Amino acid sequence: MASRIFQGIPVSAGVSIGKAFFLNRTGQGPLPRQSVPSHLLEEEAARLARAFAGFKEELGQIRDRIPPELKEHALIIDSHLMILTDPKLCGAAAEYVRSLKINAEWALDKAVSDLERTFNALGDEYFRDRIQDVRMVAGRVQGRLAGQGGDLKAIENRVVLMAHDLSPADTAGLEVGKIMSLVTVQGGKTSHTGILARTLGIPAVVGVSDLEEHIRDGDLVVVDGLRGRVTLDPDEEELAELSDLKYQFEAYQCGIMRQCHLPGETIDGYRLKVKANIELLEEVSTVIDNGGEGIGLYRTEYSYMNRRALPSEEELYEEYSDLASIMSPRRVTLRTLDAGADKFISILGAPEERNPALGLRAIRLCMHHMDIFRTQLRAMLRASVAGNISIMFPMISGLREVRLAMAALRQVKSDLRREGLPFNPDLPAGIMMELPSAVMIAEILAKEVDFFSIGTNDLIQYSLGIDRTNRYVSHMYQPLHPAVVKSIKHVVDAAHQQGIEVSLCGEMASDPFCVPILMGMQIDGLSLNPQAIPGVKRIIRQATMDDCKTLLKKVLESSTVSHTNRLVRDVIFQKFPDELLFYSSLVESEEVPAH
Ligand code: PEP
Ligand code: MG
Repeated sequence: MASRIFQGIPVSAGVSIGKAFFLNRTGQGPLPRQSVPSHLLEEEAARLARAFAGFKEELGQIRDRIPPELKEHALIIDSHLMILTDPKLCGAAAEYVRSLKINAEWALDKAVSDLERTFNALGDEYFRDRIQDVRMVAGRVQGRLAGQGGDLKAIENRVVLMAHDLSPADTAGLEVGKIMSLVTVQGGKTSHTGILARTLGIPAVVGVSDLEEHIRDGDLVVVDGLRGRVTLDPDEEELAELSDLKYQFEAYQCGIMRQCHLPGETIDGYRLKVKANIELLEEVSTVIDNGGEGIGLYRTEYSYMNRRALPSEEELYEEYSDLASIMSPRRVTLRTLDAGADKFISILGAPEERNPALGLRAIRLCMHHMDIFRTQLRAMLRASVAGNISIMFPMISGLREVRLAMAALRQVKSDLRREGLPFNPDLPAGIMMELPSAVMIAEILAKEVDFFSIGTNDLIQYSLGIDRTNRYVSHMYQPLHPAVVKSIKHVVDAAHQQGIEVSLCGEMASDPFCVPILMGMQIDGLSLNPQAIPGVKRIIRQATMDDCKTLLKKVLESSTVSHTNRLVRDVIFQKFPDELLFYSSLVESEEVPAH
């Protein structure tokens, strides 16, 4: 049989060769719609209740088996368990069985439609997204009603796991040792499947259409997570080529892992600190194993999510102290609560906002809830005796906000002093540079703080006006847009003129094609996801500052992203041929004619 290649989006690097296994195939036929005689209605309602209970038990077991490094999935599973027990779904469905005398499947479908209508009427993006969760939960209950379930247990040998989409509940229940790679029909660059695969260090390709029609369980497939391809039934020549690519990538990975504990220093002696972005205490071991020289960004939002009450000062103090002492003497930068917009925290309530990304988020929200802000600052300051802690404030737009935040910090320090509670009085305090307004006045802000950390994820979004999760415009989310490069350069120069350190903690810091440009600016540090640290350190260790400065000079003169990409490709081609081979798909962009 001839081979067949399916193109998708590469979201986790690597190559795997193995047999396909489909999880929860969709399209299992139309939903049965039947009337039920009165004397069988209670039995029908009980069948529905058993399906809910069965899935609830399955989810509970999955939750208990989640390994510590995937603990964030537990929070998502908790929210699915809440949906499962919510009377608006299971109660309403049972009610439909009895009142309309219909079968359980149909009744559940009606209850889901009701919820969809209610959520849609709220017109809020958050609730629209929650509909997906409700549908997913209802779909699994429907599966149980149809007599399916337990698909995960059917996996015996290591497989290439394929699915229409992978919900956190699906993935959290996987025995990770049995999965060699992940492929999904749905999903984009920022999808959950990619995050999971990168955490596990396995290849993944998402957004692959036609999978379900053409690939059967047991078919031989090659997943190329470098170029985003899935090859079904490769011929001998393809197999040899892909095996070779697999071997080269694995050798490259072994090499970079062996060297990941060496300092991030260029051939000509320029030293860059390479730190990690994390959000859970459990990730610390990965940071250390991958050669992280500290935590450049601790996202503190997780302790506030999916819970019924706000975390207490003691709870936060323990979390931050544990982190600081495990990492000590390495530095840990704690970011104050960056809630709002995409980081929804239900206990804070959802204010009516037409445009949450431009609304009450991050430092603005903290100023609005001063009690929450002070509690967090107290916990952070008290934890500063356990190790090397710095504090940073997100989404600063101007001088007034910095001064208000610093005043709150001073006030909390003086409260602690009065109460006789110890803290490090010299704890460095900095700000995230992630709004264009802050960039424009960087030299003013630099006089007020101890350091800057450039948050390019938001800086790109707000500079280019692009929501990267919006599929219509996400291709325009370009880290190497001339405006972005110039903004970063401006911030770095302003910080250095004022004699403060500046690092970068957006996703850009882990992109092998951006790192040499950032180095050319003489940035002091990078903070990135722990798994990407070895690769970035390798780039730094193979580079010279002279080359990076020459590249930067040309990039600053470039007026288009495609021209910048070509400049970077040339340098990567000469200096880092492995990276060009493995990551070139990252910089392929459409050329636009000038006239
Ligand atoms: C950023 O905006 O670049 C950043 C690191 O913060 P977050 O992704 O948490 O908004
Ligand atoms: Mg941000």
